[in-house]
Amino acid sequence: VIRVYCKIIKDCNEHIGTLLVHHDITEEYEIAQMKSEFVSTVSHELRTPLASVLGFTELLLTKELKPERKTKYLQTIYNESKRLTALINDFLDIQRMESGKQNYEKKYIDLSSIVQNVIELQEINSSLHKITYSVELDNAIILGDRNKIEQVFINLLSNAIKYSPKGGNISIRIYGSKDQVIIDVKDEGLGIPEDAIPNLFQQFYRVDNSDRRRIGGTGLGLAIVQEIVKGHDGKISVSSEYGKGSTFTTHFSRVTMSANKENEDRDAS
Ligand code: ADP
Repeated sequence: VIRVYCKIIKDCNEHIGTLLVHHDITEEYEIAQMKSEFVSTVSHELRTPLASVLGFTELLLTKELKPERKTKYLQTIYNESKRLTALINDFLDIQRMESGKQNYEKKYIDLSSIVQNVIELQEINSSLHKITYSVELDNAIILGDRNKIEQVFINLLSNAIKYSPKGGNISIRIYGSKDQVIIDVKDEGLGIPEDAIPNLFQQFYRVDNSDRRRIGGTGLGLAIVQEIVKGHDGKISVSSEYGKGSTFTTHFSRVTMSANKENEDRDAS
C-alpha cells in the first residue's frame, strides 16, 4: 500500500515542477486491518454469551417459574458469565502479547516443579482423567517467567482433558539433553484432523468437527501458548492421529548450573 504526497511547485504562477513522494505504508495498513478484524471478532465472541445472560435474566424477572427451572437458568447465567470472564482474560493476554507490551519476568525456574503444580491443580478440579507424570532429568531449569510458563501447561493440560473422554489417559513426560528440556503432553482423546494441524496455533481457530462442537472454547488457548513459547525462544509442535490422540511437544533451552534447586527463582540479572 502506497501513500502518495503530491506538490505542484510554482514560480510567479508558472508551473515549474511537481514533487511526488511515495511512502510505503503496507505495515501500518496491515496493523490497522488486523486491529479492526480483532475488534469485530471480539465483539462477535462476546455477544453470544452476553445474549444468553440477558435472555435468561429476562425470563427470571418476567415469568413465574418452578424452582428447578430457576436453578437451571441461574446455572446457565453463571456458566456463561464465567465463559465471558475467561474470554476477556484471553483477549487481554493475546492483545498484550501482540502489541509487544508483554513483559516477561525471567528467572531461573525448574519446569518439573511447575508442571507438577499444574497437574495437582487440574486434579483438584477434575479427577475424571488419569494423569501420569515422569521426569527423566535431574533438573529442568530454564530462564523463564513462572506465571507465563505455568499458563502454557495449564492450557495444554486442560485441552488434553477437554478433548478426551472421561477416564482417558494423559501422560506428561519431561526429558531432554544437556542443553534442552523437552516436555510432551500426550492424550488418548479425539485427536486432530491432519488438515487442521497447520491452523491450530492461529487465533480464534477451532476445529469444527461434529465430535467436538459441544465443547466450549475461544480458539485462543494454543495461540497464547505459542506466543509464550516464542517469547522464551522455545519451540512447540504437535503430532496427532485423528480419533486416537495427540501429543503437544515443547522445547526450551536448558540452563546448565552446578547447583540446582538453590538457584530456582533466583533473579537472572
Ligand atoms: P479452544 O480449545 O478454546 O477451542 P485452542 O486454541 O486451545 O482453543 O485449540 C484450538 C483447537 O485445537 C480446538 O478447538 C480443538 O479442536 C483442537 N485441540 C487443541 N488441543 C487438542 C487436543 N489435546 N486434542 C484434540 N484437539 C485439540
